[in-house]
Amino acid sequence: MRLLESGSHEAALTEVGLDDLAAALASGANDLAVRIGGETDFKALAPHASRLAAIVVVFGGFRDGRGFSLGTLLRERANFGGDLRAAGAVIPDHAILLKRCGFASVELPLGASVEDWERSLAAFSAVYQSAADGETPLWSIRAKRAAATPVAAVAAPAPDLQATVDRLNRDLRHASAEEILAGAVAAFPGRIAMLSSFGAEAAAGLHLLSRVDASTPVLFIDTDRHFAQTLTYRHALAAKLGLSNVRVLTPSNAEAVDPKGDLWRTDADLCCAVRRVKPLREVAGDYDALITGRKRFHGGVRMRLKPFELLDGQVRVNPLANWTPGEVEAYFEANGLPRHPLVQGGYASIGCWPCTEPARSADDVRSGRWAGAEKVECGIHMPSRWAAEVEERRAS
Ligand code: SF4
Repeated sequence: MRLLESGSHEAALTEVGLDDLAAALASGANDLAVRIGGETDFKALAPHASRLAAIVVVFGGFRDGRGFSLGTLLRERANFGGDLRAAGAVIPDHAILLKRCGFASVELPLGASVEDWERSLAAFSAVYQSAADGETPLWSIRAKRAAATPVAAVAAPAPDLQATVDRLNRDLRHASAEEILAGAVAAFPGRIAMLSSFGAEAAAGLHLLSRVDASTPVLFIDTDRHFAQTLTYRHALAAKLGLSNVRVLTPSNAEAVDPKGDLWRTDADLCCAVRRVKPLREVAGDYDALITGRKRFHGGVRMRLKPFELLDGQVRVNPLANWTPGEVEAYFEANGLPRHPLVQGGYASIGCWPCTEPARSADDVRSGRWAGAEKVECGIHMPSRWAAEVEERRAS
């Protein structure tokens, strides 16, 4: 990533504002750069992106993450290949996220220390997605290494797990969410983890876990399609709650099935099988039990949730199964939990950016997930035969 000191400018570029862009393009000007705020509507800029040499995104404030999202959209949806530059209220701690969102250069604020930025960049040795700097993404490196590695078999069910599930459901049928969580952590010492998408409601379950045992592993499946806000929120929330063991799971060879990175457009089930189910299946043998944040009010098959279930020889713990939307809200308020940045935009359930939009109905929090499609679950809570059937369908 190029670090441009305050006051430097590139004479070769002609810089205009968004209002003047159409006229500049019509005049046939070359080497155009546009300077826009992070709040700029992506749709207003996208049609022109391919004709620009540089796009300078000015960040409005330290907590304003819109510039990250805009950068990601320009790279991933507009296929902008020029110099994507960050300017404005950026600090060295932003460096790696800027790089990950596809920013290739930064205009350092007045008084910023180049050394601080260089140190921040040097603290990380890998990037996660392609950008103008041309570095090979980590997923691609891992994919090549793992290409010949067979998926680990799902752990064989321990014979007494069903009895354990029955006992826990019986003993904890009147228990609070925290008591269920504590009971689960005690029942599976060292063999239990929480699954978290770090989405709209995730902070409640994570906060409870931090009260029971903050060192319990938290599994985050990084599909490489998350909103930049989710990644920022994950870091901030884990730090705030003192969760010391967040384990990031990544798809090992997604590009073999999804070479263009747009499988979600044509086969969302297969995309989820590759980017979500498979990474989780690969670590299944490490845990006897996984804690989820599912609740009955989410609807669909979740309406029949019990606190403890057996799935493919592994226990699923649903401590919040009984909670209502009001109880979730009250818990956030009572504990001063930070909201996912997209919640204020009406996102009530948050997954990957291509498949998530604001909830279509206030009564159906998951109505913004795969909206308009029949799909309602990504598959990580389905029996393993679901993903096998999806992959078989593709092969046939
Ligand atoms: S939610 Fe969408 S983008 Fe994410 S893995 Fe599933 S289909 Fe792919």
